[in-house]
Amino acid sequence: MPIDPSFEENREQVDDHEGHAVWGPVEEPEKLGIHGTHVAVDFDICLADGACLEDCPVDVFEWVDAPGHPESELKADPANEDQCIDCMICVDVCPVDAIDVDAGRAGRL
Ligand code: SF4
Repeated sequence: MPIDPSFEENREQVDDHEGHAVWGPVEEPEKLGIHGTHVAVDFDICLADGACLEDCPVDVFEWVDAPGHPESELKADPANEDQCIDCMICVDVCPVDAIDVDAGRAGRL
């Protein structure tokens, strides 16, 4: 199942991580929620393919450890989402549709 593009309405922000929002539910280590708002990555879908890290022209993503998560023990964290130029490459290359980018959400936490 792809990331829910309406996560702002359907989820609650439960935390901040390195300056970006985390949208719950979060029950570590199995459930990690969605990281980011402008560039949102559903950590529960991400399987650490790495195409977004390779292809993003402005290096928005960084690996973070997710020990014990059932899909993968690395996640593509939108650590620099404020640098995003909305090219949509990451959305296109993600094999499991874990990423949603919306410039209309830029600047919101
Ligand atoms: S939309 Fe483009 S610039 Fe923004 S995070 Fe994705 S690949 Fe990077």
